Amino acid sequence: MTDTVLDRFLRYVVIDTQSDPASPTQPSTAKQKNLGRLLVDELNAIGLVDAHLDDHGYVYATIPSNTEKTVPVICFCSHMDTAPDFTGTNVKPRIHENYQGGDIELANSSQIIRVSENPALRDQIGHDIVTTDGTTLLGADDKAGLAEIVAAAQILTNNPEMKHGTIKLLFTPDEEIGRGVDRVDLAKLGAEFAYTVDGETAGHIEDETFSADAVEIAISGVAIHPGFAKGRMENAIKIAGAIIDRLPSDAAPETTEGRDGFIHPVAVTGSMEKAAISLIVRDFEESGLAAKERLLERIVKEVMAGYPGSSHTFAIKEQYRNMKIVLDRHPQIVENAIEAIRRAGMTPVRGSIRGGTDGSRLSFMGLPCPNIFAGGHAFHSPKEWISRQDMEKAVATLVELARVWEERA
Ligand SMILES: [Zn+2]
Repeated sequence: MTDTVLDRFLRYVVIDTQSDPASPTQPSTAKQKNLGRLLVDELNAIGLVDAHLDDHGYVYATIPSNTEKTVPVICFCSHMDTAPDFTGTNVKPRIHENYQGGDIELANSSQIIRVSENPALRDQIGHDIVTTDGTTLLGADDKAGLAEIVAAAQILTNNPEMKHGTIKLLFTPDEEIGRGVDRVDLAKLGAEFAYTVDGETAGHIEDETFSADAVEIAISGVAIHPGFAKGRMENAIKIAGAIIDRLPSDAAPETTEGRDGFIHPVAVTGSMEKAAISLIVRDFEESGLAAKERLLERIVKEVMAGYPGSSHTFAIKEQYRNMKIVLDRHPQIVENAIEAIRRAGMTPVRGSIRGGTDGSRLSFMGLPCPNIFAGGHAFHSPKEWISRQDMEKAVATLVELARVWEERA
């Protein structure tokens, strides 16, 4: 068995671990455990005696402390599944050694990774870039994170002069279908702080996610035979249409970026009698989220005022909250990661995620958890790519992070 981060990565990506949102089982697909078992074997091989795969498909392991100091227990976390968006069966990774710039043509198809769509390729000159043959996704999201964590665990275990506290490892199933932490046992894990290793560009750390709510609007119209409808019919389909038409065009996913939030209809059903609109509302600030919901409610009331025989309900359901609210209470989590990125030779970049992560859920479950880069790009697609050098930078970052926590304890 060879054990560089690239070797490990290439072993993991050929194991199909696609999750399935339609499956009621836990994990959603049994094949995810095939990778879980290999990971346990590899962790045992580097000497982590408590590594194990549980019935729910989670892998837990411990790197024991090698210092006299009392250091907070931290956890490195990544996910084993790949996205349902594109097939992960029969992945055939290709290595493009010593990349010299330009578009990358993939072997068995017309797929081309274009520099114009992947400006990050400009920072990869001389690197060894791993892609697929164009027929599957690669699964760097998040098998890069797994390979980097296992490689870092090996370095920390083999080098007793590198001092660190107790470090927990957690590999989760079903992250891509939003169930990654449903059955995690945080008491058993026993960590105070955690890091998901699931971000993109080398040097980046993300400590913010959206705050997210769902809104359900149900409309009851006045249904009448169309032959006798004059002055009486109030068609719920048209009421729903009027509401959707009045949604602010400058607060939509297609017109916003950076730190702007949005109101986004995700489903609509309707008949003359009844209609329903499902929306999601997103903002980085709770106040912005509330303002968008008030605006939405006002639009609904104004439209409904034109239909006196009709009625509606308006229900808000919390989905998740910006993890920054939790992380700001423990600034050392992000500060230590920024120092580790710097020591690993990069300029740290702090960012925010226009979405949620397992880390945002873990943060509100009591395990504060920002997201560190894993190095992958163009996730969930056959054009996914990652370089060996960026994976090595992630390994170095994790090793340094373990040491910074000990040093500052
Ligand atoms: Zn991921």
